[in-house]
Amino acid sequence: MPFARYVSFVLAIVIAGSCARTVAADDASTARPPNFVVIFADDLGYGDLSCYGHPTIATPHLDRMAAEGIRFTQFYSAASVCTPSRAALLTGRLPVRNGMSSDRRRVLFPNSGGGIPAEEVTLAEGLSEIGYAAGAFGKWHLGHLPQFLPTSNGFDTYFGIPYSNDMDRVSGDPKGRAAFWDPKVEYWNVPLIRDTEIVERPADQTTITRRYTEEATSFIRSHKSEPFFVYLAHSMPHVPLFRSPEFEGHSRRGLYGDVIEEIDWSVGQVLQTLREEGLAENTLVWFTSDNGPWLIFGDHGGSAGLLKDGKGCTWEGGMREPAIAWWPGTIPAGTVSMEIGSTMDIFTTCLTLAGGTVPDDRVIDGVDLTPVLKGTGSGARDHMFYYRGTELMAVRFGPWKAHFHTQGAYGADARKRVAHDPPLLFNLEHDPSEKQNVAGDHPDVIEKIRQIVARHRENLEVPPSQLEIPLN
Ligand code: MG
Repeated sequence: MPFARYVSFVLAIVIAGSCARTVAADDASTARPPNFVVIFADDLGYGDLSCYGHPTIATPHLDRMAAEGIRFTQFYSAASVCTPSRAALLTGRLPVRNGMSSDRRRVLFPNSGGGIPAEEVTLAEGLSEIGYAAGAFGKWHLGHLPQFLPTSNGFDTYFGIPYSNDMDRVSGDPKGRAAFWDPKVEYWNVPLIRDTEIVERPADQTTITRRYTEEATSFIRSHKSEPFFVYLAHSMPHVPLFRSPEFEGHSRRGLYGDVIEEIDWSVGQVLQTLREEGLAENTLVWFTSDNGPWLIFGDHGGSAGLLKDGKGCTWEGGMREPAIAWWPGTIPAGTVSMEIGSTMDIFTTCLTLAGGTVPDDRVIDGVDLTPVLKGTGSGARDHMFYYRGTELMAVRFGPWKAHFHTQGAYGADARKRVAHDPPLLFNLEHDPSEKQNVAGDHPDVIEKIRQIVARHRENLEVPPSQLEIPLN
């Protein structure tokens, strides 16, 4: 073979080989399922972000996330307090089905012996089954004993606190409510856990938002070559409030604003890490909260904006949350969606997008929001159930919400459950603040909602007597 032909022959092989490698690499990257990051705030109100109308809390990173993605205006957690809400997010099931719903004690405490039942399938378990790496960072609150911790529920690693940051106060402390409000008083003996071992006690909460963030971004970098799921569940802005020294005096909204602005910084760090690692276009990031603002704590609690009441009750302020999803190139930028969505839908949507299995041996309450995210269709969810413990308090159907029972969130009001027959009825799309009861004008709507309740009760599966969280 003449030398020139030999050179071109070799060149052709080299070029063909490199093309083959490029095609193979492209195939691999398009075949790879998306990564998921769920950022979950604690007790953040509907009105606490600047992109949801707060006038003095600055959240530029969340605002940018919304501008580049989708912002929901009618998105719900599945409960108005921590434990049941988190269980619903991770199982796609109403707390009344997944064993994390209790009338007696509405959340798990440090002396609770129970936790999320082993037979529940968490999002991390569903994803790890198909090869995802999964890391949990932050507040867990689904059982603090080793058999209930994230590492027993599909996560490869965990770094965070096992229950709320105000629990486990040092016994014998004489300080009362006034001290409880003081973030400098470190008598919350909350442990910080890595996997299953306590590594710090009490957890230094002044740096906890920053440290969760560093752990999550480090996990993303070290797992960038495989599909991953990051659950970043901030323990803020649940009281007592803490922020890093860099955020002291950061916000015109005071301490609470400082805390939100540090969470906003954290969101910016996560998104920037994804951009730097070239993962942005293959990662779906969610941001939302477990329940509404804890209003009894005055200016240490947030705001539900124009929604009524807050954490602990089934008025809109207790369960409707800010919710933003980001996936550049797939979610059309700048979308504002008025579709009804729920944290339970995150479970179904992620498992579906990943090509995983949504369990079919039990009732799943989450629906697939992919058409809403991609702007290709409307949502599959037309209703929401509002539970308090095991009691169905209210039902939303389309724009309508019927309250069969109402009850205050905390204090003396929390013991007063009022039954309504006929139910109170509000048109949430005309009256998001639930001020004008229009039950008398719409008996047909009430009848329809009663039928929905009857159908719901037919497949509730588990009798209420079995639904107490096992204690001690
Ligand atoms: Mg909470």
